[in-house]
Formats: sequence, structure tokens, C-alpha cells
Amino acid sequence: MTGAQVRPAGQHRYTALTTQTPASLLERAEARWTSIGANQPDLVPAIALQRLLVTRTIQTVDRLDGADRPILSLEPEQAAEKLRAGTPALRGEPVALPVAMLSPLVLEACDDLAQGGAGDVARRVRGCLDEGRIDIGSLLVASFDRNQNAIRLKAVHEVIAPDVLWLTAELAVGPAAYVAQQTLFATAGAGTHPALIGALAAWPHGYCPACGSWPAFGEDPDRSRQLRCSFCGVGWRPRDPGCTYCGRHLGHLTSLQAETDSAHRAELCTGCGAYLKWLDLPEPTPFELLPVEDLASTPLDVLAAQKGFGRPSLPELGGPERYPCQMEDPAR
Ligand SMILES: [Zn+2]
Ligand SMILES: [Zn+2]
Repeated sequence: MTGAQVRPAGQHRYTALTTQTPASLLERAEARWTSIGANQPDLVPAIALQRLLVTRTIQTVDRLDGADRPILSLEPEQAAEKLRAGTPALRGEPVALPVAMLSPLVLEACDDLAQGGAGDVARRVRGCLDEGRIDIGSLLVASFDRNQNAIRLKAVHEVIAPDVLWLTAELAVGPAAYVAQQTLFATAGAGTHPALIGALAAWPHGYCPACGSWPAFGEDPDRSRQLRCSFCGVGWRPRDPGCTYCGRHLGHLTSLQAETDSAHRAELCTGCGAYLKWLDLPEPTPFELLPVEDLASTPLDVLAAQKGFGRPSLPELGGPERYPCQMEDPAR
């Protein structure tokens, strides 16, 4: 279970990637890293860190695929109703995360980031977790639910780096979000559930219909555009041609290419100051390898940043589904 996309039946234009195994994914990643490192030697340290993180993601998805307890019990019909109301399907759902399996991954991600350049900043986050000052189960649930405010508040209270705490939790729980969205949207690789096809096609937002995160990038193979979620990996078609983030019309968008002969481009919005990369890839990227393609297209990020554009922070969706949790309570 790797690359099934959210796509109405009859519109499957891509080769299904259901034959991927952990070994073949890793092999594919290694080939990409070799090529990225050869073309962009300054990215070699970033590749070394990414190798650790992506390898763990591949193993975690494989372990979660083999687990028999479902992460959430949302019916496709209920999910379709949420989508029609503009709420990402996984938001606010009670989740049964395999905390014992995922908790060590948060700590390992701290270690990797510490080694990979974050140093003491990441070691302090790990120390805080080791001392039990943060309940890792609550942290994972808050991250699954994309509750950035709760995680930020807790980190500030503990005087540790909010971004590192957010990232390490995201790395650990992302595979569970991927497995959850696959179970909901594309059961056993059978394509999008019929109850969800219409609701997904009508999804008007630039944020992910499953988890509410912004896309990591858009994929543009064959001019068949789809956005890919940076957290859970869902692929969905943008409904409107305007800015993915603020919805402003095409007049606010300009396009940027890192190399003249490349079909990769960044779409810059003068309305909100954000950019989105559109990558000309031959097929949809397996969930596990999304960070690899993101890294490979770093020249576009550099260029967009030089022009003063950035990636926006998580959309603030609010709403009653943002239940208060243990993470938000500053009193211990
Ligand atoms: Zn998502
Ligand atoms: Zn915009």
C-alpha cells in the first residue's frame, strides 16, 4: 500500500504503485539521493539526515500496514459529509494510535535531528520527553489532529524549541496519518470509495481534504495536476486555478523556474506571499518518498525565498473539532 491516489474512478491515469516493498522504496530513494547529491553537492548533509528519517518512515508504514487494529473508525459516508461541510475528514476524529510503537520514533527523530545539525536544541527536546514532562501519547494525537497551537504552547512552557517538537512528532505520526487516509479513501488499493468521489471532486480548498495540511508540492505529470499533502500524502486535484493558499485569482500568480530547461516551477502569489512548487514527475510519488522529491527541488525553494516568498504555516481551521487536550494545559 503505497501510492494509491484520491481520484475519481475512471480517471486513473497513473500506474498503480501497489507492488512497492520497503526494499524497493529504499532502493528507489537511494538512486534519487545519489543523483541529487551528484547534481547538488551542498545537499549531501541534508541527504544524510533524510536517509535516516525516510528509512524509518518506510519501516513504520510497513509495520502499520501489518497491524490489525484500525487507527480510526470513520465511515466513508460520514467522511463525505464532513468534506461537504469543508472539514478535513480526519480532523477531530477519535484515533487509536499505536502509541507504544510510535513513541520511540519521536525520540529517535530527536537523535537524528541532533546529529543532523540541530545539536543541543534537539537534545533538549529529547531530554524533556525522557523526563516525562510531555505525555508522548497526547503529543502524537495532537500532531495527528494537526493541533499546532497545543504543541507550540507546550513547547514554550517547557522552554524547548516548538519547531523541533512539532517536527519530531510529525515524523513519528505521519505514517499513521497516511495509513488512516488510505484506509478511508482507498480501501485495499481499490481506488476512491464511491461515497467520497463527489465530495472529493467538489473539495474547494488548497489544504488537504484528509488532514488539513498544506501540500508539500503539486505533481504535474501529463498535465494531470494534483496536490500532495505534506503530512498524510493524499493526492487531490485543485478545483480552482487561483492561489492554493489564499484563493486569489490567477492575476496574482507568477511562475518561476530554477533552470530554463526544467519543467519544474514555483507558483508565487503576490496576494499572500506564499509559493507552491509544481514538479513535473513521471508518476505520483509514493508517500514515503515525498520528502525526497521535495529535497530534490530545493533550487526552487532557494529562488522563491530570494524573491521574498515563503511556505505558509499550517492553516488555522478552528472549529469545534479543535478539542482542548492535555497538551494545552500549562499547569503540571
Ligand atoms: Zn493530509
Ligand atoms: Zn495566495
